[in-house]
Amino acid sequence: MSRVFSGIQPTGQPHIGNYFGAMRNYVSLGEQYGKNSIYCVVDLHALTNPAAFDPRLLAQRTFEMALANFAVGLDPSKVVFFVQSHVPEHQELSWIFTNLTPVGELERMTQYKDKAGQLESVPAGLLMYPVLMAADILLYKADTVPVGEDQTQHIELTREIARRFNHTFGETFPEPKAVYNKDALRIPGVDGHGKMSKSKGENSTLGLLEPLDAVWQKLRAAPTDPARVRRTDPGNPDVCLIFDYHKLFSDLPIIEMVNVECRRAGIGCVDCKKKLMEGVTVALSPIQERAAELAQHPDDIRDALAQGAKEARAIAAPVMAEVREKVGFLK
Ligand code: SF4
Repeated sequence: MSRVFSGIQPTGQPHIGNYFGAMRNYVSLGEQYGKNSIYCVVDLHALTNPAAFDPRLLAQRTFEMALANFAVGLDPSKVVFFVQSHVPEHQELSWIFTNLTPVGELERMTQYKDKAGQLESVPAGLLMYPVLMAADILLYKADTVPVGEDQTQHIELTREIARRFNHTFGETFPEPKAVYNKDALRIPGVDGHGKMSKSKGENSTLGLLEPLDAVWQKLRAAPTDPARVRRTDPGNPDVCLIFDYHKLFSDLPIIEMVNVECRRAGIGCVDCKKKLMEGVTVALSPIQERAAELAQHPDDIRDALAQGAKEARAIAAPVMAEVREKVGFLK
């Protein structure tokens, strides 16, 4: 049986790009793989961003990310869901892998170059980020990793590290494969500047748990087809992010109506956005209600995460026992 692993960064409020690109996929993979689907909130990775050095904020965001995943339907009794720092074996395996990974290879990682280029002083942890990621995956001998295409290089490095370990110490780890969810790259930011992304700030995102009137304000201000200057100008939904959102949130008859009426100026952009908002409300209301309910019982979230960490350690323990023996640590 295959085993799936995915890490979730606890950086800021999850948005609809996270939902359609990853979180919804976790729920369906959870139905398919059960306890062989392993998800963790990667708070150790979050530390590689110096802006995350706020103890209260990191804990709060870690908690909120867990809550949001449960609110969209991830059932912690059916999958393994935990917080990375609650399972210290991630760091132990990461250290062993660090010694199998040339610095030059890490320096060539595109994400490292992009992020390091924006910093005055680069933390060594940022360079080691993909090694920790390899440890996250291989600690559970996971062979399937749902990721965005921007993670291709990191998964290839994980495969290389697995090969290197197997070559040096004997066959131990599978070479995991990436499973791409292309939706993650297609969801445009509501400000009209490229992909929806937390790193571009709140103007780019529609938060999953954001109050619906705030979501509406963002949609109302969102750019549409720039060629539609007057209400009577025909538009082209293919170049309009509102139409992209319709495809995510609206029923087929609404999508078809917009596709036709926009082109012959039969519908104005404000009305089109109001129609979209109806679909957004139907989709987000139950998630937000569930999140509000869950937030009333924070101890239940903590208990679920503690149980998840216990289950993760039960899988990781024999793998680490095998690794320690193969590497040659004194028993
Ligand atoms: Fe975009 Fe809708 Fe306006 Fe067409 S009618 S340009 S799809 S907002």
